[in-house]
Amino acid sequence: MRDSANEVLRAIATNGPVSRAQLARELGLSGPTLTQATKYLLDRGLIVELEQSASTGGRRATLLGLVAAAGQILGIKLAEDHLVGVCIDMESRVQWKFSSDFNSRGADALDELLSILKKNIKKVSGPLLGIGIGLPGVVSPGDMGTTKSAILGWDALDVGNILSERLSTPVLLENDVNTLAIDESLFGRGKDTSNFLTITFGRGIGMGIVINGELYVGSHGAGEIGHVTVANNRNLCECGKLGCLETLASDPAILKKAMAAKVVTKNSTIEDVWKVARLNKKVASSLYKVPGQAVAIALANVINVFGPELVLVSGEGSEAWDIWSEWVLGELQENVVPTMRNFIIEVDPWDDEKWAQGAGALVLRASLTARSDLNASRQAVKSRLRLLPGIRLEKNS
Ligand SMILES: [Zn+2]
Repeated sequence: MRDSANEVLRAIATNGPVSRAQLARELGLSGPTLTQATKYLLDRGLIVELEQSASTGGRRATLLGLVAAAGQILGIKLAEDHLVGVCIDMESRVQWKFSSDFNSRGADALDELLSILKKNIKKVSGPLLGIGIGLPGVVSPGDMGTTKSAILGWDALDVGNILSERLSTPVLLENDVNTLAIDESLFGRGKDTSNFLTITFGRGIGMGIVINGELYVGSHGAGEIGHVTVANNRNLCECGKLGCLETLASDPAILKKAMAAKVVTKNSTIEDVWKVARLNKKVASSLYKVPGQAVAIALANVINVFGPELVLVSGEGSEAWDIWSEWVLGELQENVVPTMRNFIIEVDPWDDEKWAQGAGALVLRASLTARSDLNASRQAVKSRLRLLPGIRLEKNS
C-alpha cells in the first residue's frame, strides 16, 4: 500500500497533475489499489483534486495535484528601472509581495539583482522551489536563460546560469509577455481556452501565443508582433531593423508624435497624452488612427494564421484601450478572414503584480508539466520538488 502510494505521489510530483486513469495506465495499478493509494495521499493532505480543462469538445477531467503549500516560488517582473516580485504557493496564490528600484543598465546590474533576490529568499518560509523572472526581451530557449534585451541594455547576458549558480536555486527566465500568457493559461482567462493570444501595449508591443494549451516559443523566440514591418514605414527601430510596428505604435512613439505636434509639452508623459486624446477627438484621431490601423492589420494577420478563440489586451498601455479600440476594432474585423471572426477580444487589466505572478508560474509549469523535453533548470525544479520534506511519506502506514 505504502509503495503504491509512494509511486503515485512520485508520478504526480514529477509529471504534474494527472487523472486517475492516466495514473492507472502509467503505473500499471489496478483500480482498487489506485483508489486506496490516492485516498491515502488525499487523507494526509499531500495531494488535492484539481479540475483541468479538456481539449475543445471534451469533458473536464478531475486531476490529482500536489498540495499548494508544498512549495513556494518567487516570481519577478524586471523593468529597466525597477522590479516587482511576489512569493506564490503552488496554486499561484500570492503570499506576499515586494518591489525595489533596480538599474538594469548599471555596470553591477546582476550584483544588484542578486542582493535583492537574496534578501527576499530569506523571507520565504517554506521550501523554495525556484525563481521565475519575466523580462522585456528574448531569452534563448533550451538553456538556462541567455538574455538579450534592448530595453534592459543586456546583450546575450548569461543571466540564468549566473543567478542559479550564485543563489543555489533554479532560476528560470522568459520573455515577460510569455510569462503572462503562461499564467493566463494555467490560472487565468486562458484556462478554458486552448488557443489564445495576448497582445500587450506600452513601452513596446508584445505578444504571447498559446496553441493547443502550450505557449509557443519558437526556436529563436516568438510573438515579436512589435517588430513586424508596417508598409511605407522607414523608421529605425531599437531592434536594429527598419519599419517596425513599435516605431509607430509604442507609447514612446505616440508620445514623441504628440510632443512634435505640440499636443503636450516637452516634459509630458503618455498619461498626459491620454488625457488630451480623451477630451479632443481630433487629437485622438491624429495620434492614434494610423498606429491603430497598423496594429489592427498586424493583429489580423496573426489571427488569420493561428485562428484563436480569444485575444487578451494587456500591458501598461492597455489602460488607453478606450482610445485605441476605436481605431483598432473596425479595421481588425475587416482584415480577419470571415470564417475566423468568431473570436473574443478582451482587456486584461494591467497589473505589475500579475506579471510577477506570471513569472512565478514559469517555475510552477516546470514542476507541473509532464513534458519530457525539459532543460536543465526545469529539471532542477523537478528534483527539488521530489526532495521536499512536505511530500515525504511516513515509514509505516
Ligand atoms: Zn524592431
